[in-house]
Amino acid sequence: DPAPEAAPASARATTTPALFSLASKTVVITGGGRGLGLTLALAVVEAGGSVACLDILDAPAASEWASLQKLAIANGLHVTYHKCDVTNEQEVAEVIKAVAAAGDARGSLFWGCIACAGIQQQLPALEYPAADFDRILRVNVTGVFNTCKYTARALKESRRPGSIVIISSMSGNIANRGLSCTAYNSSKAAVQQMCRSVAQEWGQYGIRVNTLSPGYIRTAMTDQLLVENPEVEKIWMAGALLGRLGVPEDFKAPAVFLLSEGASFVHGADLRVDGGHCASA
Ligand code: NDP
Repeated sequence: DPAPEAAPASARATTTPALFSLASKTVVITGGGRGLGLTLALAVVEAGGSVACLDILDAPAASEWASLQKLAIANGLHVTYHKCDVTNEQEVAEVIKAVAAAGDARGSLFWGCIACAGIQQQLPALEYPAADFDRILRVNVTGVFNTCKYTARALKESRRPGSIVIISSMSGNIANRGLSCTAYNSSKAAVQQMCRSVAQEWGQYGIRVNTLSPGYIRTAMTDQLLVENPEVEKIWMAGALLGRLGVPEDFKAPAVFLLSEGASFVHGADLRVDGGHCASA
């Protein structure tokens, strides 16, 4: 493919304070093909880091990916896309190993991950088929575990510290009014406990692990819930203490913070970024 045009100087990643810089670091982002994951990939690049996006999609969302590439090229950074199913342990192991080796070889040292791939499905609990329940847990819990495990392995083998950010949800803390998302809510609570559990084991290697728990964000995932029941937006807005739902950009700074040295003593924590939603529940 022809190289995209260089970005204007104003778009360059020069403003991140040193404490929050991800310069010379490479980060893996699952679910990085669209939605929140792709926005967080942009945040990492804006903070001076290189990114490997993993997603089950054949290709990432075209226009956002083009902007990401443009910014990366303008700043001498790397962005790569890897089709990968997070529930396939071997695939995850191979991709993370290859990304870590390539980053280290370029001097953009492998630093960690954002485990963001996730799915949801609304069904009344009394009718939830066990197979569907298993599928949600497999992606949202086992997929997150695979990502964290092989990230931590690569870091431990390189004898370097690093940072793992798991995207949970406020649904891991409260049961959302107006939605029937038992499997999803269970999965998001599970990864918070997973985080605390692996934090016990990996802190000794300098590998920090935290969850970031967003409130409602307007993405394809929530658009689907609104198609199923448009009335639900009123219920969501009732808990929106800041008077609005979230947008993917609201999570850029919190995610970069958790990844960065600025969060060097933040470990086994859950950072709620929900516009006050949990506080109002
Ligand atoms: P999207 O559906 O827009 O993005 C999720 C991405 O993950 C999709 O590209 C999806 O592909 C991909 N994915 C699904 N299954 C797998 C798999 N097995 N392996 C690899 N990739 C996979 O959702 P959001 O951006 O809204 O959500 C991102 C994360 O944020 C999720 O973990 C979600 O639970 C969490 N979150 C979202 C909130 C919201 O309001 N949107 C609120 C709180 C948390 P495909 O499209 O094919 O499924």
